[in-house]
Amino acid sequence: MKQVPLLINGEFSASQTNEYIEVTNPASNDVIAKAPCATATEVDMAVASAKAAFQTWKEVPVPERARLMMRYQALLKEHHDEIAEILSEETGKTFADAKGDVWRGIEVVEQAANVCSMMMGETAENVARGIDTYSYIQPLGVCLGITPFNFPAMIPLWMFPMAIACGNTFVLKPSEQDPLTPTRLAELFMQAGAPKGVLNVVHGGKDQVNQLLTHEDTRAVSFVGSVPVGQHIYKTATDHMKRAQCFAGAKNHSVIMPDANKAQVLNNLVGASVGAAGQRCMAISVAVFVGDTKDWVEELASMIKEVKPGLWNDEKAGYGPLISPQAKAKVLSLIQQGKDQGATCLVDGSDFTLEGYENGNWVGPTVFSDVTEEMTIYQQEIFGPVLCCMCVDTLEEAIALVNRNPFGNGTSIFTASGAAARKYQHEIEVGQVGINVPIPVPLPFFSFTGWKNSFYGDLHAYGKQAVRFYTETKTVTARWFEDDIPSGPNMTINLR
Ligand code: NAD
Repeated sequence: MKQVPLLINGEFSASQTNEYIEVTNPASNDVIAKAPCATATEVDMAVASAKAAFQTWKEVPVPERARLMMRYQALLKEHHDEIAEILSEETGKTFADAKGDVWRGIEVVEQAANVCSMMMGETAENVARGIDTYSYIQPLGVCLGITPFNFPAMIPLWMFPMAIACGNTFVLKPSEQDPLTPTRLAELFMQAGAPKGVLNVVHGGKDQVNQLLTHEDTRAVSFVGSVPVGQHIYKTATDHMKRAQCFAGAKNHSVIMPDANKAQVLNNLVGASVGAAGQRCMAISVAVFVGDTKDWVEELASMIKEVKPGLWNDEKAGYGPLISPQAKAKVLSLIQQGKDQGATCLVDGSDFTLEGYENGNWVGPTVFSDVTEEMTIYQQEIFGPVLCCMCVDTLEEAIALVNRNPFGNGTSIFTASGAAARKYQHEIEVGQVGINVPIPVPLPFFSFTGWKNSFYGDLHAYGKQAVRFYTETKTVTARWFEDDIPSGPNMTINLR
């Protein structure tokens, strides 16, 4: 049985633990590896290694740090298919979608390779007579990354390349459900020439995370995952005086206006709702049909019904299995609650299984109409291939509905009207808005800006906000005397 190694101080090695978590192929639930729950000593060693490496890494010139990222992105591109294959096997994602997962991470590494100009401070001459003020930004120290199962390439790559390019060192604790992809990312990072200790990887679950969060030598944590864990991480990290950015769950609405292009809407909503088995934090899980577009629901449902789940290497498969039997059980229970609470189940994927893979975590595409705000399927994040359809009469009602929802990760509007789109983008209380774009994930020169219960913190992932998150600002006020030596003490706070 393959054992997932730890990466501590530049060495990949087996953990000394006797506690393991099985890594499975979700299509069959066959065990493909075992991930160690790192011992407390190993977690300490990872932090100590990152702490020691910080003393030298922070002195490495910024362009040299950027060049490491250039070499890394070249290696990731060279190994793109190989990483995607590992990712497909442990998540069940289709190969094309797995390649997308890796690609969206490579784009962040490209941004990290552009870090030099983002490390520039500000200057002002003559802020007082003969006095100049300028600022530098400097790295924090040891930063942490706690990542979820659903993007095992992209999300670790949201974090450690930007943090390390800024001069920090890093300890990554990837999801225990799919640790093989992040391990391969770490191997390639070392191959790109990362000095030992700059990136460390430990495995495990809540005990390892809590040890890292409360460790006196860690300075900041980036987390992506579910709402309860995100809240716990934010509270624990800030209680221990650390910076935290915690990206959490979502319920993303797409609003369909009567003047929208019907074919464009329907085609977009199929992939945005059940693609990746709905296991995307930016998946569209609620479609809000405005006015006469309520007549489009049946056609959308019949298109979604045609999507076939399948194996990662089946080019005709629309999506793969859910990550675990527990995830499947949760989704099936929510589908049942939707039926019990009176929603109309237009397409029911509860009984779907893939022939020859009956033990896998399969759920077929599912569509509900007549969904109301009181129903559990509306209130909870389902994280499965399930679309809830709702109908309202006006754009104003649609905006009010979306704004009442406690989540604020992403949303989209389909319309031909600039005025409707402008009103929506201005009034909607959601951090990422698509206009005729169903899943508006910003590219890495912007930042990933979820709001409300989808994000706890203030500075978001990647882009300029990540540079601010991973650095401190130092402001210098300087005077060089020539022959203007003051004649006596200045007893006021004023500069002169
Ligand atoms: P999760 O919260 O179960 O796990 C995330 C990480 O936290 C894992 O590394 C896990 O080991 C760790 N963890 C779990 N329980 C813990 C505890 N009690 N204490 C400390 N650490 C703990 O999330 P998941 O199921 O892996 O991922 C799916 C969730 O992630 C969904 O809710 C999805 O919306 C969310 N997500 C959000 C975004 C975003 O950008 N907002 C992106 C991707 C995924």
